[in-house]
Order: sequence, then C-alpha cells, then structure tokens
Amino acid sequence: MKQILFIILLFTFIGSNAQDIYLHCGKIIDTKKGKVLVNKTIIVSGIIIKNIEDGFSVPKHKDDIVIDLKNKTVLPGLIDLHVHIESETSPNKYLEVFTLNDADIAFNASEIANRTLLAGFTTVRDLGGRGVNVSLRNAIKNGKVIGPRIFTAEKSLGTTGGHADPTNGRRKELMGDPGPKEGVVNSVDDARKAVRQRYKNGADWIKITATGGVLSLAKSGKNPQFTEEEIKAIVITAKDYGMFVAAHAHGDEGIRRAIRAGVKTIEHGTLMSEATMELMKQYDTYLVPTITAGKYVSEKAKIPNYYPAIIVPKALEIGPKIQEMFALAYKKGVNIAFGTDAGVFPHGENGKEFGYMVEAGMPALETIQSATITNAKILQMENEIGQLLPGFLADIIAVNDDPSQNINTMENVVFVMKEGKVYKE
Ligand SMILES: [Zn+2]
Repeated sequence: MKQILFIILLFTFIGSNAQDIYLHCGKIIDTKKGKVLVNKTIIVSGIIIKNIEDGFSVPKHKDDIVIDLKNKTVLPGLIDLHVHIESETSPNKYLEVFTLNDADIAFNASEIANRTLLAGFTTVRDLGGRGVNVSLRNAIKNGKVIGPRIFTAEKSLGTTGGHADPTNGRRKELMGDPGPKEGVVNSVDDARKAVRQRYKNGADWIKITATGGVLSLAKSGKNPQFTEEEIKAIVITAKDYGMFVAAHAHGDEGIRRAIRAGVKTIEHGTLMSEATMELMKQYDTYLVPTITAGKYVSEKAKIPNYYPAIIVPKALEIGPKIQEMFALAYKKGVNIAFGTDAGVFPHGENGKEFGYMVEAGMPALETIQSATITNAKILQMENEIGQLLPGFLADIIAVNDDPSQNINTMENVVFVMKEGKVYKE
C-alpha cells in the first residue's frame, strides 16, 4: 500500500513539473453562482484544471505556456443535450437513406464532430442515428477523431409507423417489418428487448419517440405512439442497465405518458399544457427545448420542395410554437436543460439557442447554467465538467464579449480547449 502511495506521489510530482498552461482570463463565468468574475488565471496541467488564482499569475517553470484571454470572457465547455451527430439537414436527406454507406456517414460525422467542438460544445448527447454514432464516440474517446465527448442513444426507439420507424414512407416491398433489433417496439416485451439491444450495441442513453414528429414521413406530428406500459418497461429496463431515457414528444398526451413513466428529459415539449408543466415539476423531469430546430424547420418549410410534401404542414404548425411554450415553461419553473436538435439545422450553429432562450425571458447567465451545470448533472458528470474548478476536466472556451451583456456572442466561440488540449485559439 505504501509503495503504491509512493508511486502515485512520484507521478504527481513528475506531473507537476510537466508543461502547464496559464490562461489569463479578463472575465470568467462562475456557472455555479451565475456570476461574472474578473481577472483570474486558470492553470491547466495535463487534462485537468490544477488551480484558479486571482489576478494574472506568472508561470513557475520556463516551459509553461501563457494564453492571453484578458479581453475575452472565459467559461466551461458547453454541453448540448440534443444533437444528431450523424446527419445534417439537406433537401437530399430522404434519398441519403438509400445512397450513403456507413463509411460515408462516418466521414461526414467526423467533420460534423469537429465543427461542433470548434463551436464551443465539448460534450454532446447524441439522440439517435444509424449506429455509426457509437463508433464515432469511441474514436473521439481514443483520440482518433477530433470532436466533443459523446453520450449516444445509438438508434432511437419508435413504434410501427411511428416517428423512429426507419422504413416509414417507403413502398411496401421496401418497408419490411422492423422489430426491436431495429428499434421498433409494439409490446412490453419488445420494449425490453429493444433497450437490451441498445445496451449490446453500445448505447449510453435510450431515446424514444413518444409522439409523432415533424421530419418523419408520416401524417401526425403529435399523436401519442407508445402505451404508458411500454414506456415504463423501457425506463425500468434502461435503469437496470445504468441508462436514462430521453423522450421526443410534441403532443400533450404523449408528453404526460412519458413523464409518468419516468423519463429523464422531454425533448421539444411543443404542445405541453400548463397542467403538464406542473407534472414535469412534480416528477423532476427536464425540458430540452430545441427552439433553434423549431424555427429552422418552419422557415425551410416555406421553400418549395425542401421537405417532402407530407412534412410541410407539420413543420409550419409545430415549428413556430416551441419558443412560446418554452417562455411559459420557464416562467412556471420547469427544469430547463440546454439542447438544440443540431442536425435538423446546420451543426455548429448550436449557440443560436442561447439568444432564443433569452428572447423568451430566461436571463442570459441562466441559459449558460443550463448548458453547463444542469446538463453536467443530467449526464452524471457534475464533478468533472460544467464548472471551472480545480480537479475538473480542462474543458474551457472563450467568447469575445460578456454574454451577460451580449448573449449573441455565444454564436462566435473564439477559443476552445478540451481536456487540456487547445483546438481553437
Ligand atoms: Zn432530435
């Protein structure tokens, strides 16, 4: 035991002699207190924040590096709880199902991951793709690809003909009959199997599509699509495997079933009633608003042929309502977690969400708290990310202006460090 302790101490000593990075920060956001502090030095050693000192500290060793962020505002790396890292909006999207191989998706996704990181998002929760997302997560973790830390749901779960049925809209010979293996469930037994299959495939989270959705080739964007028993089976099985459940939901009834069944987050929540907002508070469920996606689809739906015809009325109806619902949910005290649905709009523009949240009445520093401490807690990483504190991972970004004065500065992140490595300066 003493020997092990000695070795640890020796490594700590050697570690402290390695090159440290001194970040001279003119302004720095304390995400715990929701305050802007001035003139601090963050000392980064390896992948960790070693210390934070008042004023601009002088390096102790000649090899140490100083990075001047004296006229910037520095904050923890941002966390987006709703992205689709494998795909991106385009008028060809519905054809791509038939044309892209997994390798094509992988190359595209690695570029998307890079873009997302450079936009200041050092951690994302990926809520569904074809399954390349698991490989991408691993490649990033192993340093083979540059991108954010990924928590992925692998493939979303839906019901036959539902929002996550992968063969919606096809002619009958091409429809097949996808089942739990492909993420389609129609019973409590299927529900369990689909969750276990996701676990086997390497998922970190489970995503369900509790109601219809805008961008699927199906008629309703809001009808409930799971029984409450099916969602309960999913939540309970996920818990057995150490996973939480995120529920895509626009219509009120589907949202209510998902909340009562115990999902952790409601994605979009567009047509939620005030009574359901109370239910969310009662069950401690988080709302992930995705206002940016709502605005984007309602704009693109006005361009002829951007989306297939069946999608247009859904996009026009549902898209514009999200921000209004969010304003009320915030006012009523619903827990808010930051998430954008990037992929439905171009990746890298995730920072627009902050401005839309402020526009709807949430104070700027609270929007930043939602994208840092709140999301870190939901991902069970609250002791590693979301704050700038000694011992935390050195995920650090900077913007030109003070976001408490100018929230749109969040759309232009000028410095990005992830786990002590600088990716943008
Ligand atoms: Zn989504």
